[in-house]
Amino acid sequence: MADKFDVIVIGAGPGGYVAAIRAAQLGLKTACVEKWVNKEGKTVHGGTCLNVGCIPSKALLETSHKFVEARDHFAEIGIDAGEPTPNIAKMLEFKDGVIAKNVGGISALFKANGVTALEGTGKVVSSKQVEVTGHDGETASYEAENIVIASGSVPVEIPPTPLTEGLIVDSSGALEFDEVPKRLGVIGAGVIGLELGSVWSRLGSDVTVLEAMDSFLPMVDKDVAKEAQKLFKKQGLDIKLGARVTGSEVKDKEVVVKYTDANGEQEQTFDKLIVCVGRRPYTEGVLSDDVGVKLDERGSVFVDDECRTSVPGVYAIGDVVRGPMLAHKASEEGMMVADIIAGHKAEMNYDAIPSVIYTAPEVAWVGMNEQDAKEAGIEVKTGSFPFSANGRALANNAPEGMAKIIADAETDRVLGLHIISQHAGELIAQGVIAMEFGSSAEDLALTCYAHPSTSEAVHEAALAVDGHAIHMANRKKRK
Ligand code: FAD
Ligand code: NAD
Repeated sequence: MADKFDVIVIGAGPGGYVAAIRAAQLGLKTACVEKWVNKEGKTVHGGTCLNVGCIPSKALLETSHKFVEARDHFAEIGIDAGEPTPNIAKMLEFKDGVIAKNVGGISALFKANGVTALEGTGKVVSSKQVEVTGHDGETASYEAENIVIASGSVPVEIPPTPLTEGLIVDSSGALEFDEVPKRLGVIGAGVIGLELGSVWSRLGSDVTVLEAMDSFLPMVDKDVAKEAQKLFKKQGLDIKLGARVTGSEVKDKEVVVKYTDANGEQEQTFDKLIVCVGRRPYTEGVLSDDVGVKLDERGSVFVDDECRTSVPGVYAIGDVVRGPMLAHKASEEGMMVADIIAGHKAEMNYDAIPSVIYTAPEVAWVGMNEQDAKEAGIEVKTGSFPFSANGRALANNAPEGMAKIIADAETDRVLGLHIISQHAGELIAQGVIAMEFGSSAEDLALTCYAHPSTSEAVHEAALAVDGHAIHMANRKKRK
């Protein structure tokens, strides 16, 4: 007889592994199927996030940032360390070590929580049955009361720039360059383009980013996006907006890229090209044809607000369903679904999911930006504060950026927080918590913040909503 589980999760990325751990914690007999095999041929957990996404990119962002600090900024603060040189092999080794520690941690958590780890490719063959084809080709069948699909996403490929070993690469390839490309092309000024473009620019590449849209970071508040564009340009990223890539040619280990912009047809030659034009949901081989789980027009598994698919007992979470393709969104959905399966009430607030671009400075936001609120017909008031007036930011030698709060003009409720600064990815939690608790800007203004801290810029932005920031010369007179 087939092994029987309360829950089988397909995919052990941050959606799937979190769902499996939570389900096991709630007393459900749980298995998680994973097919990812690392360079050593070992099945590894953690999915895109831990193996080729969030974690390795942050390791390279951190090491390349430290290199720039040593090269360009140590002398300013009184450290004469000479001329540093990047050791790319060592940086990649550090990154791989970070990945190994993280993926090893998930396997240990599975053991500690009693999650059965199944190795191979999982397929939903009916609403209560999953088939797992192991790496040896052998197939086993398992019964499950509930199934959670967490198969993630893969990079979008575009016909003008087919991937070409070592020359035209996706984000995974861009985490593996063993030397600094002299001329690096990046297609797409989205999150990956800016993060990985920054990594290699810091290490010495001449980076050109080709972005099809005319606007830069349209999801971010326009004041913050404008500041980001200015700072990234100063750092050496040549960001060309309105540049639509139409073709490419690989010649003598060089990539010639053709694109059109406002001035007509253009051509530029690179040593390497990164294609990062988005990701698409991954469902290949996950569903039997007759299982009845519906996909939407974008190829995502169709789900309701509680991540239920069109088939009772089958759920789907993370990048394979609608919504932002973010690890923490996948994990939250994983916990919600496990709670629901265990019979608890659970829901997610999709309006309060933070986003962060881990450049230097970081760009982070949650909720509405001013332009979107206005477009939606919501009357807003805003408060902004520059980090150049924050004591801790000056002491950190990181005075760039600003924090901006968007609040409802009538109720004062916080609708959004948009920040560009050092550690904006940490500061944004304040906006998320404010929104989760339905706080007003005044609630934040009346809160006591530690001094000196960069958080105080958020406090001042909240005070500025009513024109009463303390450390700003042009504040209103208090009534
Ligand atoms: P995935 O992490 O994609 O995991 C899906 C898993 O399912 C994979 O392990 C896959 O092997 C497995 N699988 C698929 N089909 C099957 C099958 N049939 N049987 C068994 N296993 C299967 N997000 C952030 O929030 N912050 C960041 O800083 C960030 N940085 C990123 C940087 C890069 C370069 C990239 C590419 C992505 C980044 N992301 C980041 C996005 C983040 O990685 C994803 O949103 C997240 O991994 C989605 O989690 P998931 O569990 O839905 O899917
Ligand atoms: P993205 O959607 O963020 O950006 C893709 C960009 O490519 C867009 O600006 C788009 O206009 C542009 N583009 C599309 N086709 C083009 C063309 N033919 N020519 C020129 N430009 C073109 O996608 P991404 O950067 O590939 O990232 C994929 C996903 O991974 C995102 O959804 C993101 O949420 C996630 N991610 C998150 C983080 C993070 O949270 N820090 C980091 C990396 C990736």
